Amino acid sequence: MNGSRTPIRILIVEDDPWFQEFYRRLLKQDTAQEYVFVSASSGQEGLEKYVSERPDCVLLDYKLPDLNGVEFLNSLSSANPHHAAPVIMLTGEGSEELVVEVLKSGAVDYVPKKVVSNRSLTRAIANAVEKQELRTAVENKQRKLEQTNKQLLRKHEEIQRFYHTLSHELKTPLTGAAEFVSIVLDGLAGPLSETQTEYLGLVKEACDQMTRGLNDLLDATRLDTGKLRISPQRCAIDKLVSRIVMSMKPLAERNGISLENEIKNELPDVYIDEQRITQVLTNLLTNAFKFTENGGQVRVTVGDSAEAADSVLISVVDNGRGIEADQLPHIFDRLYQVKRSDSHGEEGGLGLGLNICKELVALHKGNLCVESAPGAGSAFSFNVRKFTETEYL
Ligand code: ADP
Repeated sequence: MNGSRTPIRILIVEDDPWFQEFYRRLLKQDTAQEYVFVSASSGQEGLEKYVSERPDCVLLDYKLPDLNGVEFLNSLSSANPHHAAPVIMLTGEGSEELVVEVLKSGAVDYVPKKVVSNRSLTRAIANAVEKQELRTAVENKQRKLEQTNKQLLRKHEEIQRFYHTLSHELKTPLTGAAEFVSIVLDGLAGPLSETQTEYLGLVKEACDQMTRGLNDLLDATRLDTGKLRISPQRCAIDKLVSRIVMSMKPLAERNGISLENEIKNELPDVYIDEQRITQVLTNLLTNAFKFTENGGQVRVTVGDSAEAADSVLISVVDNGRGIEADQLPHIFDRLYQVKRSDSHGEEGGLGLGLNICKELVALHKGNLCVESAPGAGSAFSFNVRKFTETEYL
């Protein structure tokens, strides 16, 4: 015996001393592996030794004076749930049903006593021990992964809570500051010079941009925690879109962009959360202005949806810079912004807008999608469900 490997602890559960000795002798012929033997002459004794000796492998006789092999196997996991050693069943009778039953009950292998030899026994033990080691390694890895996953989830929730609280805390003073800037801009605190008006206009724009960012952060955390809910109601979509387009005209003009709408006549009412769909459309329009050159055009169209007969399709179409094909699959991802070597990050935004829009449309059971080509412009389209007397989201 060269003894170079760690000895394998074998528990022999066998009431016949002749067979106990026979197995020991067979295994002692193995020169490549050392074995340490523990024996038990009954099922009960076997279970006790399984707990106290923690064997690496069990050779189990099917017919014991007090238990049969299946009963022994069934008692193993409750005997010591923290230890798992493979069990090889040895029996005189070799019916097929018995083999199936024994393997089903948890034995890893089956060797008929009639054909047991040094080769069959050592091979069965080596396979069983190796399998068990692999299983234990996989289980340990899995346990570790589960722990890491739990920790990550906890951290993720902590970060979300932090963002949520931070956004709330910052929003209140920011809203106050923006209000006072508006009061001064409106001349209510006394006359302003042209330069003062211009500078305060920039301050107001900066406050609005920060408020939009904070609102996006709040929405993103609400979406993650499932706290963003919509309250859909019956709504005249033509009037809503006209109102939104009207309210966005000044911004379009400031950017030197013409903004038009094309609304199909006699559209049916839709079933939406007006505030949230206004948010989606405003966001898509703000993006269209942001990524379209001075002198460009943006159109909002509202009409029937070719794909869903129960929906109305709303599109925001610009003739701006467009999006590269390889970027398109990602633009709805959270925090994704198209990287451009010439932008220097001056376009602002957190890369949350489109992701939130997509989720808001999905809450309406609709879909937001995009068609775009570099240099030719982009078309963002989403569908909202028509109102029916019986329908509730
Ligand atoms: P952000 O709020 O940072 O703009 P969005 O989620 O709204 O993020 O948009 C993600 C990216 O999609 C932007 O960085 C921009 O490059 C691209 N994008 C969005 N709308 C348009 C558009 N109309 N034309 C061209 N690119 C657009």
